[in-house]
Amino acid sequence: MYDYLVVGAGLFGSVFAYEATKRGKKCLVIDKRDHIGGNVYTEDVEGINVHKYGAHIFHTNNKDIWEYVNSFTEFNRYTNTPVANYNGEIYNLPFNMNTFNKLWGVITPEEAKQKIEEQKKESGITEPKNLEEQAISLVGTDIYEKLIKGYTEKQWGRPATELPSFIIKRLPVRFTYDNNYFNDKYQGIPTGGYTTIIEKMLENCDVKLGVDFFADREQLEGMAKKTVFTGMIDEFYNYEFGVLEYRSLIFENETLNTENYQGNAVVNYTDRETPYTRVIEHKHFEFGTQEKTVITKEYPTEWKKGDEPYYPINNDKNTVLYKKYKELADKEENVIFGGRLATYKYYDMHQVIAAALTQVEKEFGK
Ligand code: FAD
Ligand code: UDP
Repeated sequence: MYDYLVVGAGLFGSVFAYEATKRGKKCLVIDKRDHIGGNVYTEDVEGINVHKYGAHIFHTNNKDIWEYVNSFTEFNRYTNTPVANYNGEIYNLPFNMNTFNKLWGVITPEEAKQKIEEQKKESGITEPKNLEEQAISLVGTDIYEKLIKGYTEKQWGRPATELPSFIIKRLPVRFTYDNNYFNDKYQGIPTGGYTTIIEKMLENCDVKLGVDFFADREQLEGMAKKTVFTGMIDEFYNYEFGVLEYRSLIFENETLNTENYQGNAVVNYTDRETPYTRVIEHKHFEFGTQEKTVITKEYPTEWKKGDEPYYPINNDKNTVLYKKYKELADKEENVIFGGRLATYKYYDMHQVIAAALTQVEKEFGK
């Protein structure tokens, strides 16, 4: 008999299992995939740590969370500075003075602000109601057309007018010549890859891979006093109120006999026609000097049952549906719901860790 059955060996499940085990509890961690780590999983290919489920850059403003992850392994000084390729034109991201200079030839922050203000005025938007209006209010129509509209509509498979504005607010807009994609105080990539961290977290738990909770639900639930569930909340309730929508992704990996393919870890393709959104060159996350290189093209696709659900689509329709499931979840006494899928939230890694640690505190006290 276990104290906890943890469904999902991703970041939420692993932090919870690690903390519970530290407190003398017995955990069984299962995952339907054949590896641990969930979406942060990294794999060694040609001596390069390949981010199997897309680029993962750790960033946080929370010192405790930064120290927590650093207690498992050292982080390097990588700072994410993606570039955008719009039909062969290269622009710096996030939107900053380098972007404005390349686009409009402006030199000073004042000139850039004026340009954005003009375009905003022309659009007539006063209170942004969706992603498109929010984006134009922040950076004007030129940047919206070249760097946001195409990328966003590929990424989400929906018109930008039907998407929530918070998605675009993830990106900083700066009137300095600073290409750092994040505003957070701490940022880096773990040496040895994220899998090293998860391995350490799960060192003293029982782990069973290739096990789907729903294939053997009753038996598995019977093996522990409580369940920590990090899969899809609507599936947990047999989709009784309807199906929550997700965006899925297809990752196309290639090993190339070249030392440096694109000169940057992340290049975004922001035109509508190129079918992928990003090309990742993994070695640059760790300043790699290997002879070969591994690149990944990321193609967004609509999710259907059986696909990997990567991004929750937090529009009004899904928010209403999620609330219904959450009401049921709140009544459960022996099930804890956590992570991106079970709480249907567009969480970054540091937020998932913080949520897991909050849950640990609730369960065991400070
Ligand atoms: P997951 O990692 O999804 O883990 C859930 C696990 O549960 C999975 O392993 C799954 O197989 C398993 N599972 C589900 N259902 C079942 C079942 N029925 N039975 C058994 N097992 C099951 N965050 C950042 O901070 N920085 C970034 O740069 C960043 N980039 C990202 C890029 C992409 C493309 C994506 C998709 C996400 C990115 N994230 C990033 C977010 C980050 O991946 C998540 O915050 C984090 O991995 C979520 O952890 P989790 O445990 O909630 O979920
Ligand atoms: N985005 C964009 N152009 C870019 C990069 C991002 O329009 O070159 C928009 C897009 O809508 C995306 C959102 O900003 O979904 C958030 O970007 P982020 O890089 O945070 O996405 P993630 O890494 O989570 O996929």
